[in-house]
Amino acid sequence: MIGILGGTFDPVHNGHLRIALELLQELPLREVRFIPCHVPPHRGGPVASARERLAMLELAIGGQPGFVVDKRELERPGLSYMVDTLSSLREAYGDLPLCLILGEDAFNKLDTWHRWRQLTDLAHIVVACRPDVDGPPSPDVAGLLEARRETDPLVLQQRPAGGILMWPVTQLAISATRIRTLAAKGESPRYLMPDSVWSYMRKKSLYL
Ligand code: ATP
Repeated sequence: MIGILGGTFDPVHNGHLRIALELLQELPLREVRFIPCHVPPHRGGPVASARERLAMLELAIGGQPGFVVDKRELERPGLSYMVDTLSSLREAYGDLPLCLILGEDAFNKLDTWHRWRQLTDLAHIVVACRPDVDGPPSPDVAGLLEARRETDPLVLQQRPAGGILMWPVTQLAISATRIRTLAAKGESPRYLMPDSVWSYMRKKSLYL
């Protein structure tokens, strides 16, 4: 099984890295592909450039077996829709099970994503339970979860797509927003993210 962790990564932090490692080991996954988005459909544009977000991701995952940076959304013009990304991964990987990894906040609003009902035709969804989540999933997302919920990762290994697994991960109340706010106030985000990324942020004067 291949894990797919899409995001803005503005910047990447230990919340992302830790959930990826736990899922890599526990499901287990052959690899986790970190896919930075080019133009996110749901929010304002990222603060750091695509090149800077990519450089920070590469520094963050460097040397970790099983972690891969995947540039396909940065190389695709226009808005970065996950359904298009999963279609291109499905073409590349044939029938191999794919797991779209989502934090609980992202999963709860899945019905705002472009062609969201097709996502489970293309991949399984693995939801990393996240602290400080505002409320339950929207009714349509709750309905999808009820219809597709699995509790055993072995079941996901047996088909390419279609299941939803809620997986408890170490709860780290770290967000990129918090890191940008700390940097803007001149406070240190050290230990919330790898030192290599923190050094890069300082070198480039990001988020000041
Ligand atoms: P921002 O604060 O800018 O919105 P973020 O920290 O949520 O950013 P993203 O790059 O938007 O980071 O997140 C990519 C994916 O990782 C999303 O599915 C998100 O829910 C998940 N994620 C991010 N941080 C955590 C965390 N601490 N625990 C669990 N999931 C997380």
